Amino acid sequence: MSGSRPPPPRRSRFPASVSPSSPASAPSRAQVLRPQRPVEQAAQDAARSVAPSGMGLDSEAVRRRMVQRLEQGGLRCEPVLRALAQVPRHQFVDSALAAQAYEDTSLPIGLGQTISKPSVVGRMLSLLHDGVRARELGHLGKALEIGTGCGYQAAVLCLLARQVVSIERLAPLHEQARQRLDPWRGHGLMLIWGDGRLGHAPSAPYDSMVAAAGGDEVPPAWLEQLAVGGRLVAPVHSETHGGHMLLVVDRHEGGYTRTLHEPVHFVPLKSGAQ
Ligand code: SAH
Repeated sequence: MSGSRPPPPRRSRFPASVSPSSPASAPSRAQVLRPQRPVEQAAQDAARSVAPSGMGLDSEAVRRRMVQRLEQGGLRCEPVLRALAQVPRHQFVDSALAAQAYEDTSLPIGLGQTISKPSVVGRMLSLLHDGVRARELGHLGKALEIGTGCGYQAAVLCLLARQVVSIERLAPLHEQARQRLDPWRGHGLMLIWGDGRLGHAPSAPYDSMVAAAGGDEVPPAWLEQLAVGGRLVAPVHSETHGGHMLLVVDRHEGGYTRTLHEPVHFVPLKSGAQ
């Protein structure tokens, strides 16, 4: 499939726009107040936030081991490996799941959504790093992420790109990610609550685009907002495979090139923001 000139992209089967993206400065929704927990439960949570080996999850060594395993699994992109070694993944998941944060597994993040496996995050970001613009620049340039979720991949992107725009459609996840990503604010990060199928035109064009949710096709707005030389990586439904596959779209002067890669499992790309 690789490298061939694609047929013109099919029109999206998604319904027309539902909710416009709101700017990051839009008034935030009421924050969720946690009920008071018994002290025993708080202590159990604290105990669970320590890795079974007894090594604190804040330790760089835990992340380095995760990265070594990803390297053994075939991930070769140095900048991506370095970025994955720096972001404390356990801080983006519920404390009850923190001990599993450095295993190569997807984890629930609430509202039926999941944080992708580190190997899948690494794979998608390394594909982005191989784009024409990214190779010229030596980094991901201006990046758009669709599906902020818990904010983990947005944090990794902050280390790989010069500017990151990340869109989430579910307000509670957007708000939680905003809090978790507070320490990353100095890294040119803009978080938006809205329908990511529309992209974010005010910051376009993007050198790199990555979707963390899979649809039937690539929404037209993403193709329009991709820079010439830019690359988009997204899970899309494949009729032949019957599930999602990783799709890479490269934009060049004459059009777009689409390359299908391996099968993947992602949550669905949905319409509208709520
Ligand atoms: N990158 C995330 C993965 C989150 S899972 C992380 O590191 O945690 C995918 C996310 O995509 C979910 O939070 C889901 O709500 C969101 N999503 C699905 N459709 C969307 C859309 N149209 N616009 C924005 N976000 C969307």
